[in-house]
Amino acid sequence: MKTIDGKQLAANLRAEIAEGVRKLKEEKGVTPGLAVILVGDNPASVSYVTAKEKACVEAGMYSREIRLPGTTSEDELVKLVGDLNSDPAIHGILVQLPVPKHIRDKAVIDAISPEKDVDGFTPVNVGRMLIGEKCFLPCTPHGIIKLIEFAGMDIRGKHAVVIGRSNIVGKPFAALLSRKETNATVTLCHTGTPDISKFTREADIVVVAAGRPNTVTGDMLKPGAVVIDVGVNRIPDATRPKGFRLVGDADFESCSKVAGAITPVPGGVGPMTITMLLWNTLEAARG
Ligand code: NAP
Repeated sequence: MKTIDGKQLAANLRAEIAEGVRKLKEEKGVTPGLAVILVGDNPASVSYVTAKEKACVEAGMYSREIRLPGTTSEDELVKLVGDLNSDPAIHGILVQLPVPKHIRDKAVIDAISPEKDVDGFTPVNVGRMLIGEKCFLPCTPHGIIKLIEFAGMDIRGKHAVVIGRSNIVGKPFAALLSRKETNATVTLCHTGTPDISKFTREADIVVVAAGRPNTVTGDMLKPGAVVIDVGVNRIPDATRPKGFRLVGDADFESCSKVAGAITPVPGGVGPMTITMLLWNTLEAARG
């Protein structure tokens, strides 16, 4: 069984991206700029945006950190995004989700110019992805494809089972895998699927993005399957300095006895999501 080292793959790709940034500065005088907006102080969101900003600076990019109070109105946020859309120093705009409940996700996402939508969340980018046009691919699904390839698997002709149908992971990942280039056969499971294990036992690739620990256990897998664990769940743990530890949606111990390869949590999908954000920001700056 192989543990798929997302940190290592992320480091390899980030070195390539940093080289791309250096060349773009030298040849065109352009520094890729990413604006990261955080509304409120949700602890998980604070740690995600901090990691994104740090990665951006390490790659030689310009990072503009915009932290707003939880009381910020939808109109104020939409206006800010509009200003960033026309700011030439900014090539990518990221609004960390979830935003507070009084702000509609949709209003914020719709406000981002598709040309600066480095998360790949706007309807225009999602539509372009579905019909196979050039677009910003959503970061987590794009990173997962890279991880599966890094694990040494040729995705073409394989059967992939995706658990979870969110707009940011499950649905776009299923769509990406079923494109002609990737050519996988995809089964998309969710809470309406009566017996998920019936499908996972047939799968060469199992991707779980359910937000629930132990959604996939070893007895649900075909021997040798590649398991990609997207979940990030905080479990109270008094022995840890922060009082919690992170676990994924797959039970690593039982899955690792049956799988051919599996991503750890942390250190699997997370670093790749941030890396693909840098990738898209560099692409946006190249124009
Ligand atoms: P989400 O919006 O939390 O939705 C969860 C999805 O999983 C829903 O489609 C739900 O089905 C399905 N689901 C939940 N429990 C299930 C079960 N027992 N059996 C089958 N399906 C089940 O999804 P998300 O935003 O994609 O997040 C999922 C997890 O990934 C979270 O832990 C999140 O923190 C993590 N995440 C990690 C990264 C990263 O970079 N590492 C990025 C994004 C998300 P219904 O639609 O039927 O309700």
